[in-house]
Amino acid sequence: MLFEYSPEESTFLAKVREFVTTEVLPFTREWEANTAFPDEIWPKLGQVGLLNMALPKTLGGSGMSCVGYTEACRELAKGDPALSMNVAAINALCVAHFAEFASNEQQAKYLPGIITGEIKLAWGLTEPDAGSDARRVKTKAEPTERQGYYKINGRKMFISNGGKADLIVLIARTSDTELSAFLMETDQPGFKLEKRIHTVGVCASNTVQFSLIDAVGWHTPCTFEQAIGLLYRGRLGIAGMALGIAEKAFELTLEYAKQREQFNRRLADMQSVQNMLADSAMEIRAAHLLLLDGARKYDAGLPIITESSFAKLYASETANRVTNRAIQIHGGRGMMKDFLVEKLWRDAKLTEIGEGCSEIQRLVIAKQVLK
Ligand SMILES: Cc1cc2nc3c(=O)[nH]c(=O)nc-3n(C[C@H](O)[C@H](O)[C@H](O)COP(=O)(O)OP(=O)(O)OC[C@H]3O[C@@H](n4cnc5c(N)ncnc54)[C@H](O)[C@@H]3O)c2cc1C
Repeated sequence: MLFEYSPEESTFLAKVREFVTTEVLPFTREWEANTAFPDEIWPKLGQVGLLNMALPKTLGGSGMSCVGYTEACRELAKGDPALSMNVAAINALCVAHFAEFASNEQQAKYLPGIITGEIKLAWGLTEPDAGSDARRVKTKAEPTERQGYYKINGRKMFISNGGKADLIVLIARTSDTELSAFLMETDQPGFKLEKRIHTVGVCASNTVQFSLIDAVGWHTPCTFEQAIGLLYRGRLGIAGMALGIAEKAFELTLEYAKQREQFNRRLADMQSVQNMLADSAMEIRAAHLLLLDGARKYDAGLPIITESSFAKLYASETANRVTNRAIQIHGGRGMMKDFLVEKLWRDAKLTEIGEGCSEIQRLVIAKQVLK
């Protein structure tokens, strides 16, 4: 592919690859079995520079390009997709929220701990009755006597890292027509963890449901559209995650097809298998090109509404097709826990649902092309 990383991106991505090889991939099965990441993962992510990608250097971040961010999500997913999903969302939705909407006082209070991984983050939009239709959020925020602080009541569902987070960037309703965002410390009596949600894939991610009863939130003044506008870069991160899953499954499948023999020849010599490999290779390349197109446009300051949906939709459907073919080529072994492809297949499903399901991505694209 005719594309080069900047020296800064190259140095960073080499560090991320090394981290994935030594600190992530060897533990992915253990984390899944424990349905948890170890607590030490957060400071390690901080040390590699994976928690401050969306922050400018003036705020203590790396000011990493969007290309660097999406490629890091891609590399992380080759080691552990659930970790990639968390890093993608924490950077694009939480850390970027601090860069865009938090006051100097809020930044000074929280950013130093966020960057080192001492303060763990989550992003809370989804509710039992507000999923794809995010404007239906019912969680209500009412001003208190203390300037900038609100009393918040409601319930949130499917919040990644919600059971571990020290601080949640939370979307709540401020009037019948307006929504905005709040910083909520979880260490307060009004924050009630209701249940851990166990999912078919990305199992190590701490997905939870919680309720808020007169919980206190610190307002970060922004409109609903501004807050969820961060999803455009976020979707590129999920596209990076999907691409990494597809590439890892493809790599493992190529190796397997070259060594497994039936009917006195390698699977790799059978035309039906070659067709599946050819389709996967082509779709992975196309997904990467769409992703780089979106990320480079973001870095050039151009709008990426269509591009982020193109990349997320195509990469997530590619991840699902490629992992499905990977199992097919592995045959019965593809369904065994001894082989990683079954996990990648389960993890891939999230990429077609989180940060806007495929149907919503198609709606976004159709709206743009019909303008
Ligand atoms: C593992 C996991 C982690 C998550 N992490 C977070 C998080 O950290 N923070 C957060 O806020 N949320 C999170 N989510 C929530 C996620 O963003 C939502 O699940 C997603 O937006 C879909 O909402 P829903 O599940 O309510 O499905 P619904 O909105 O009920 O949609 C169900 C299905 O209906 C169809 N559909 C819906 N609307 C339309 C339409 N307009 N046109 C055509 N078809 C449509 C689609 O097929 C869709 O998949 C997470 C979800 C999962 C599973």
